[in-house]
Amino acid sequence: MRTQVGIVGAGPAGLFLGHLLHLEGIDSVIVENCTREHVIERVRAGVLEQSTVDLMHQIGVGERLRREGLRHGGIYLCFGGQRRRIDFEDLTGGRSITVYGQNEVIKDLIAARCSTCRPLYFEADDVSISGFDSAEPRIRFRDAGGMREVACDFIAGCDGFHGICRPAIPPACLRMYERIYPFGWLGILAQAAPSSEELVYSLHENGFALFSMRSPAVTRLYLQCSPDEDLAAWTDERIWDELLERLEAADGWRPNRGAVLQKGVTGMRSFVAEPMRHGSLFLAGDAAHIVPPTGAKGLNLAVADVHRLSRALARHYRSGDTDLLDRYSDACLRRVWRAQRFSWWMTSMLHRSPDGNEFDFRRQLAELDYVTSSRAAMTSLAENYAGLPFD
Ligand SMILES: Cc1cc2nc3c(=O)[nH]c(=O)nc-3n(C[C@H](O)[C@H](O)[C@H](O)COP(=O)(O)OP(=O)(O)OC[C@H]3O[C@@H](n4cnc5c(N)ncnc54)[C@H](O)[C@@H]3O)c2cc1C
Repeated sequence: MRTQVGIVGAGPAGLFLGHLLHLEGIDSVIVENCTREHVIERVRAGVLEQSTVDLMHQIGVGERLRREGLRHGGIYLCFGGQRRRIDFEDLTGGRSITVYGQNEVIKDLIAARCSTCRPLYFEADDVSISGFDSAEPRIRFRDAGGMREVACDFIAGCDGFHGICRPAIPPACLRMYERIYPFGWLGILAQAAPSSEELVYSLHENGFALFSMRSPAVTRLYLQCSPDEDLAAWTDERIWDELLERLEAADGWRPNRGAVLQKGVTGMRSFVAEPMRHGSLFLAGDAAHIVPPTGAKGLNLAVADVHRLSRALARHYRSGDTDLLDRYSDACLRRVWRAQRFSWWMTSMLHRSPDGNEFDFRRQLAELDYVTSSRAAMTSLAENYAGLPFD
């Protein structure tokens, strides 16, 4: 097979990129090692920034998002029993977030890909890449028909944190920056109508909790736990008791209880690999960077990367100009580091560290008080959370 851009991974980065390139008339092949069902059913991100929402409408994949997405004008921060609202729309001149599950985004993008009839391979085994530092980049993989080889001009490494593209770059050519947090999130999906129209982030003596939702009938809730927490020790009853203890506010607000549909523990890390390009291999999304989920930035950063990459490739194919391709890594990393800073800050403000003491807890409460009462501080949080425009 021959194509212009070979894309490894059919997560948000790979699928958005494939569609953006299609709209520019650029051919691509997407190679994914999991099944279509697994890719669709993975429950992960749920908060879309304003720019991600705008892009989905612009590229014609926003029809269901318009109908089913839950637009939120702000969030609540809860501490000392009080819930205080940060009004994004007022503070940012109308920008907001939309709650729409990552798996719904994926369904819409797979449908869009299939309608273009451009190739998308699921269940590809033994995926490997080569030749990206020469003039002959190749993706090889095995499927039911045997071994296949895709010759391409460029490879987009959109295969997430555990993929094969980043490790294919010689270690001496990459610099990695990492912070692993001494806590994780125990997350549940519950059959319960949301009792708040907006997300509630809480700092409690027992640690962090987050109330969020996926639809008018399903809530998504998280509890700070240890990174290697034993899920078996957490009955549904215990999870709900702890969630209510951490989230219940003095005004009587509390999440509705309901059947637990799914539960899991996720560790938290901040990670950046620089540069995001090696020869004709371009890394995008989680393949190049990971943020702790507190700032809801992971999926949105992946979209920002591939939006930039698609414009750079379009310019190259239209005029032979490689300027945007040459600037891809530096330009992406500027946004990435700003999102890293924001995600780290939200995480540090809202979690209790095992190394911390009562002084740290009091300091965190004072910070939350400031962040919810100073217009300047609220504006800073609002513009970062709702997301900076794509430039
Ligand atoms: C529990 C949880 C909650 C989250 N909440 C949020 C949130 O609220 N907001 C937010 O913005 N982000 C959130 N994130 C992060 C977000 O889900 C990721 O940042 C996002 O999925 C990144 O997209 P991606 O396409 O770069 O990578 P991925 O989604 O990881 O996609 C990579 C794809 O590549 C495939 N792949 C891997 N290896 C290979 C291989 N060798 N060959 C072929 N294919 C391969 C994978 O199967 C996968 O389909 C959350 C993540 C988790 C885990």
